[in-house]
Amino acid sequence: MKNLSLYLHIPFCVRKCRYCDFLSGPADEAARQRYAKALCREIRAAGEFCREKETVTTVYLGGGTPSVLAPVQIRKILDTVRECFSLEENVEITMEINPGTVTEEDLRSLRAAGINRLSVGVQSFRDDELKLLGRIHTAEEAKDVMRAARRAGFSNLSLDLISALPGQKLEDFIFNLEEAAALRPEHISVYSLILEEGTPLARMAQEGQLPPLPGDELDREMYHETAKILARHGYHRYEISNYAMDGFESRHNSGYWTGREYLGLGLGASSYFGGVRFRGTASMGEYLGYYGEKDLSSVKVEGTDFSSISQEGTVFADAPREEMEQLSEEDRMAEFMFLGLRMTRGVSENEFLERFGASMEDIYGKVLQRHLAAGVIERTDGRVFLTERGIDVSNAVMADYLL
Ligand code: SF4
Repeated sequence: MKNLSLYLHIPFCVRKCRYCDFLSGPADEAARQRYAKALCREIRAAGEFCREKETVTTVYLGGGTPSVLAPVQIRKILDTVRECFSLEENVEITMEINPGTVTEEDLRSLRAAGINRLSVGVQSFRDDELKLLGRIHTAEEAKDVMRAARRAGFSNLSLDLISALPGQKLEDFIFNLEEAAALRPEHISVYSLILEEGTPLARMAQEGQLPPLPGDELDREMYHETAKILARHGYHRYEISNYAMDGFESRHNSGYWTGREYLGLGLGASSYFGGVRFRGTASMGEYLGYYGEKDLSSVKVEGTDFSSISQEGTVFADAPREEMEQLSEEDRMAEFMFLGLRMTRGVSENEFLERFGASMEDIYGKVLQRHLAAGVIERTDGRVFLTERGIDVSNAVMADYLL
């Protein structure tokens, strides 16, 4: 049995935040119901496609805002997962929720349905910042939902913050960090704001309607303060942007960074399975057309790389895809390096040798020497990892591992 992670995409939100370019948006109840039903159909087809050769160790419901679906719909989706896949006994089942979309009763129902970890999109504890971002909730509502989650029985909570907001000063950001730590979630993620092209926030910046964005120097200062302040509160950094109390690192995301296979189900979700990366259609019409009401029994595989799958599994294999790419050995080596280096424990030289039959030194000797000389990596006890200086320029460092 191989280990597998499942990602389930729920592409609905109450309304679009100003900075967001994810595949998500508002929808009415009828559309949400059709989608939930189609997703269950896809889960069944994917279960057949895998033919029970995998043990699912983590399930992640992301979005969008999965908590826009009713708890009963989430339960149906999870029941379908349990029916169609073998789940590890202590499987981690995370669901993203946003303040303003769940009541305490909803949270109790979600806990009873099997969700055992919540990732709460808080982003800021200042109402002016939340307003600027176009979030639907206040800081007080964010605190309320964290407390309600505890009362509902959740013992594994993660909280997301965004740093480097327009006009944000160091002390504003430190206030957010302190507020977050005071709520004692087991896990905190902090990402710098990126102005994605085409979003309302990017347009506002172009039109001069936003206070100035913190420059690189302040952005890095916020980053270094994050590690310092959260360490004082008992959180260690285990990945460039992620901090956890001991034993509460995200198992799901750690799978992405260590090359574990995963199936992404739902609109536009990405997968890595059998050495192939693929992404489902991002067209809702196409998705519902395929997994919706029509009879799927006649679907046939044409020109896919998956030749030895069951008839029912062909429904999943032949689904509409946006991208499909068989990774070469070089691609897999590069991914091993640049995904693994995101984690503070870095990459193991032995594991590299075991996976690829070649030493890291043989493949990357020159790059490693250059990075060691520049002080952006360290090489200790058979592991290679980024230094603090390396983290500050991580994108450039990691790009050097592309073959
Ligand atoms: S709640 Fe999340 S996914 Fe939805 S619009 Fe806001 S940032 Fe995007």
